[in-house]
Amino acid sequence: MKLVANNIDHIGIAVNDIDQVIKFYTDVLGLELQGMETLPEHGVRVAIIKTDRHKIELMEPLTKESPLAKFIEKRGEGLHHLGLKVIDVSKAITEFQDKGITLIDRVPRPGVGKNRIAFVHPRESKVLLELVETANDGNNTPKPRSTKKH
Ligand code: ZN
Repeated sequence: MKLVANNIDHIGIAVNDIDQVIKFYTDVLGLELQGMETLPEHGVRVAIIKTDRHKIELMEPLTKESPLAKFIEKRGEGLHHLGLKVIDVSKAITEFQDKGITLIDRVPRPGVGKNRIAFVHPRESKVLLELVETANDGNNTPKPRSTKKH
């Protein structure tokens, strides 16, 4: 079964202060800020930066209790996760479970831009993975939403 649709969707970087760090990406690297989003259920504020094919997500903790704040406290700012594009996040979760892979999310949850996401524990991959089923994927191959089971 083909799990990954188009390999890497984005790279997630943990930062203490988006407004301070973003200047490097926009002013120095000359990349385009696609948008900002606050995700209270994840305890983060996110800046989405466009590159040629992929995106960079700068993530800032909303509160000191945010899991991201705890991550930065322990590991420092820097690479947080790798976002992988999947065709169907629910199917991917089942597939990973069947293969004995450790998952953080056993049910999909909403991510940036109405995407459906699930995090996979870094135990096997050595980096936190975010499976991303894009609400409207960038390949210009719109997926009929009606095929989804509820
Ligand atoms: Zn992400």
